[in-house]
Amino acid sequence: MSKFFYNVAIAVPLRQIFTYHSNQQIIPGTRVAVKFGRTNKLGIVTEAINETNIKTKPIHIVLDDLPIFSKTELKIFQWASDYYLHPIGEVINSFLPTNLRQTKNTFEAETIEGNKEIIEQNSEFETTLNSEQIKAVKFLNELKGFMPTLLHGVTGSGKTEVYIRCIYEQLLNNKSVLVLAPEIALTPQLESRVKDQFGDLVGVYHSKMTPSARYKTWKKFRSGEIKVIIGTRSAAMIPAPKLGLIVVDEEHDSSYKQQEGFKFSARDIAIKRAQIIKIPIILGSATPSLRTLKLVEEKKFKTISLTKRVTQKNPPKFTILDINDVQLVSGLAPQAIEAISQTLKQKKQAMIFINRRGFAPQFICSYCDWKAMCNSCDSSLVFHHQAARLICHRCDSAFGVPTHCPNCSKAQLSFLGTGTEQLEETLKELFPKISIHRMDRDSTTKAGSLETLLSEINNSDTGILIGTQMLIKGHDFPNLELVVAVDIDQGITSLNSSAVEEMGQQLIQVAGRAGRSYGNATVLVQSRYVNDQNLLQLKSGNYLNFAKSLMKQRQLTNQPPYIFEASIKASSPKAQTNIEMLNHAKQFIDSSKCLLIGPIPAIQSKVRGSYNHHLLIQANTRTRLNKLLAHLSHSLSKDKNNISKKVRWGINVDPLEF
Ligand SMILES: [Zn+2]
Ligand SMILES: [Zn+2]
Repeated sequence: MSKFFYNVAIAVPLRQIFTYHSNQQIIPGTRVAVKFGRTNKLGIVTEAINETNIKTKPIHIVLDDLPIFSKTELKIFQWASDYYLHPIGEVINSFLPTNLRQTKNTFEAETIEGNKEIIEQNSEFETTLNSEQIKAVKFLNELKGFMPTLLHGVTGSGKTEVYIRCIYEQLLNNKSVLVLAPEIALTPQLESRVKDQFGDLVGVYHSKMTPSARYKTWKKFRSGEIKVIIGTRSAAMIPAPKLGLIVVDEEHDSSYKQQEGFKFSARDIAIKRAQIIKIPIILGSATPSLRTLKLVEEKKFKTISLTKRVTQKNPPKFTILDINDVQLVSGLAPQAIEAISQTLKQKKQAMIFINRRGFAPQFICSYCDWKAMCNSCDSSLVFHHQAARLICHRCDSAFGVPTHCPNCSKAQLSFLGTGTEQLEETLKELFPKISIHRMDRDSTTKAGSLETLLSEINNSDTGILIGTQMLIKGHDFPNLELVVAVDIDQGITSLNSSAVEEMGQQLIQVAGRAGRSYGNATVLVQSRYVNDQNLLQLKSGNYLNFAKSLMKQRQLTNQPPYIFEASIKASSPKAQTNIEMLNHAKQFIDSSKCLLIGPIPAIQSKVRGSYNHHLLIQANTRTRLNKLLAHLSHSLSKDKNNISKKVRWGINVDPLEF
């Protein structure tokens, strides 16, 4: 009997591929069950190879009749594994629906041809486009082959309607479309608009759904029954036989980057996918990332703009409020309170944007300076009044609220700073007759609570909305005329280089929620750094001015996107072990070819009892960085020294946090 040999990717944290044999011919992309050590593991055949001299074990079971992934899709996985220096088995596994990660389930594929009649029924559109939108649609629909294009549309300029026309064009050609969105559960608008238009041809795919619901959608998209997927980052690699277009909405959003385990950017994988299968990809945003803007500047990406709001109303005006030497009431300056009061008198809505949930970020003893800290993180506990708990926002541990100081026993405990809960209480006292809506993770945990909250807001003309960044993602509040940004200074002072970029994006995005009906909206930005260059750039309300100035600073100081960066993160119960390991790792990096920084403690230096440290590698070219990392990764996995076994370590390419 003849024997065939196959390379098999297995979801284990080992940076290698494994060879098995079988007497069956297996098409790459097929799932198999193999013995690995003493256990049965799921594997994906990545390629058939010639006879080998190594002793191989047999493939136990061929699980599926047909391959799950195509050759092209396997190629993208291989690229991701090489680019992010992550084991191929884990890369593939992270894009498999949960139901297919087990060796007992069989995948049954079915192929359905698209129905042109259904598609033609959808040719009536809800809205007519303005001239800019028409121009954009024409431009985007004429793109052929791989052509990444930035759709830069100011907030309220109707990007979604442009996407819809582009999707329609693809459907007419019997092609399918992948739409990525950062957090669908938080922003139901995109989903509902696309579903209104294309009905049953649309499926959604995100982590808030049950595994079986997700699997159903996955299968339908793969078979062609569903033509449009709107999904979060895990949807980036759903197989599709006739993919014609990828749309990445809010391309700047940091939630495209997975922060744990396989640290990939779904935006970047989507771009690679479009490149490999030679199709256009649209990156949409009102506040594009600096990385994208640089690629536009270098003419590697095309760009088309929507500069006007569809309502033709003026964009909001920015005012920066100096809060040095100002007595704040729950974080609000008197001028801000006055502005809220005026807005309410005009029967309009005001929004307070604050990126801190809970009542107060610190709980302290005013006698001995004791501060409530988490037992297992280096993070102060946040006082939650409604839950009557002190909660760690890093590990979610909750503690009772002491009445006396655990350190000096005095009853002089108080809180410091402001969170969403406190603002809600204060504003209720200040404006007792006004309806106040708070939108943060705590107020939206129950299923459906977000939708209820949003419809309450939209059904009342006046009122106050208080919220975290959740509030700013793609929502449309027609009556909103005032935004107060309470606490943006952490964006200015943060050590994370991406924090300023994110602050600018958040301010422009939050401003974009306002003034859609009247056009006299104001954004009040409270700050102690009123002369900060970046903040002053934002005052114009023009994101591109801000971005260009920030890019100049980045170029002068050799920061991304002008250099390429990766971090090696080490975690263990002992800080010293991390430092020793990272110092040991340095010998595998040719320091003449890059800049090495560290080991340094991570900004979240201790989480759940584990200390975190980083070694930062900066290189002038992507290729050079990748070579250095490949050598490091290879050397560390072969390393005989025990020190690298004592810590959990991982490589983070293009990190957002340190
Ligand atoms: Zn005390
Ligand atoms: Zn904690």
